Amino acid sequence: MDMAINFFYKTKIEEAEDNKIIPQYKFEIHPFDKVQGLVGQIKNLIDVVGMVTSVGRLEKRTNGAEKLDVALTDSRNPRNRATSIPPAFIISVQVQALQELYNLDSAPTCSVPSSFLVHLAASCSIPSARSLSLISRLGASFLSWNEKMIVTLWEDRAYQFQASLQNTGQSPIFVVITGLLAKKFSDKPSLSSTDATRTYFDIDYKPLKDLKNALHEASAKAGVGLLPPTNVQFVTADEKSVQQLHIKDVLDIEIPPEKDQVRGLCMATITEIMEGNGWLYNCCSKCARAVHPTEEKYFCVACNDDNITVSQRYRVVARIKDDTGTTTVTLFNKEAEQLIGAPIQRLINELTEGTNMEEIPPAVKNIVGKLCAFQIKINNYNITNGCEEYTVTRVSECSNAEAGGSDTVNAGHKDKRVRLE
Ligand SMILES: [Zn+2]
Repeated sequence: MDMAINFFYKTKIEEAEDNKIIPQYKFEIHPFDKVQGLVGQIKNLIDVVGMVTSVGRLEKRTNGAEKLDVALTDSRNPRNRATSIPPAFIISVQVQALQELYNLDSAPTCSVPSSFLVHLAASCSIPSARSLSLISRLGASFLSWNEKMIVTLWEDRAYQFQASLQNTGQSPIFVVITGLLAKKFSDKPSLSSTDATRTYFDIDYKPLKDLKNALHEASAKAGVGLLPPTNVQFVTADEKSVQQLHIKDVLDIEIPPEKDQVRGLCMATITEIMEGNGWLYNCCSKCARAVHPTEEKYFCVACNDDNITVSQRYRVVARIKDDTGTTTVTLFNKEAEQLIGAPIQRLINELTEGTNMEEIPPAVKNIVGKLCAFQIKINNYNITNGCEEYTVTRVSECSNAEAGGSDTVNAGHKDKRVRLE
C-alpha cells in the first residue's frame, strides 16, 4: 500500500521515542546475479550489499568527469584455489612475502601449515601500503570470489567513498551502496552511481551482517582470513589479475602454449608519437572495422556492403619508456581519446584545409611526457613477427608524484608465477 504524508500550514511535528517499529534502514537489496536482468532499466534504482574486494584509481573521462571503480562480492561460495597450486609453492611464496614484510635475510627454516602463515600475515599490523598490498596478494592467490560486481562511482560519490575508506584501517570492508543503475560494460553488467547514490560502511543492517558472517565462515573453512580491499590500477570483474611488468619483461615474454595472449600492466612515460603510422584510420561507421578505398569506393568486409559511410577513429602509435627499456604501443580510439582529451571529430574540424592527414596534430603530440599505467595485450603476432606496437586495452594517467617509488612494480614482479597460472 502506497501512502503519502502531506504537510500543511498547521501541521505540528513532535519528536517521539524510537519504538523500533520503523526500521532504521530500508533498502531494496538486489543480489548480483539479478543485475543482468536490470540493464538499461531506469525506473527503479538498485541497492546492493557486498564486501569490497578491490578499489581502482580516480580516472578522468574526456568530458572531465571523474570516476572510481570498486569491485564487490556477495558470494557465499569462495573458490579455494589452494588446491590448484602445489602446497610447497604456496609456502615458498608466503615465506618470500613474509621475508619482505619483516625484511628478513633468509627464509625461516621451519615447517608450518600454510594457513598459519596467512593468518600471521593477515593479523600483523604494519601500517604501510606495501605490507598491505603484500598481504592482499597473498590472500588473492588462493581465495577468490565467484560473484563479483563492478560499481562505478562518479564525482562526489567517488570522493566520499575514498574519504570514508581512508578511515577504515586494514580490515575487510562491507558496504551497502544505494541508488544505482545497471549498465552493460563489455559483456558483463556493472552498476553506476546516480545523484541518489549513497554508500554506507559497516552499518547495523541485517543483510549486511548476514553476508559478513557467511564470508567469515567461508574463509575460515578455507583456512584464510578475510582481507581488506586491494588497491588496483584497473578494477576487473574476472579473477584473472594482470601482472605488472617492466618493459624489458614485456619484450622478453613467452606466451604459455595454452594461451593466445597475455595481459600486462606497464607504468611508463610516453616519449614520442611514431611518425609514418598516421594518427587515425578510416572505418565503417556501422561496425568500426578498418576500411580501405578500392576504386574510390569503400567496401566493408564485415558488413558485406560497398555503400558504407566512412568515419575516422584514432590509432596512435606511441613510444613508451621506463627504467628498463622502451617499446611501442598502439592506442585505439577510446584510449587515445582519453589521453588526448578530445574526440577525434573535434581535431578533424580544427584542421586547416589542405593539411596532410598523415601529419600528427599538436593535440596528439601533447600526450608526450605523460606518465601512464598501460594495460596491454601481448599476443603471438607481436612475438612471431617481432612487432611491438602492443595494443593498449586500458590506460590511466598517473601524476609524477605517485611514480616516486617503483615499489609496486617490484612487488608485482615477485608475484608473477602466481598470476600466470
Ligand atoms: Zn562494417
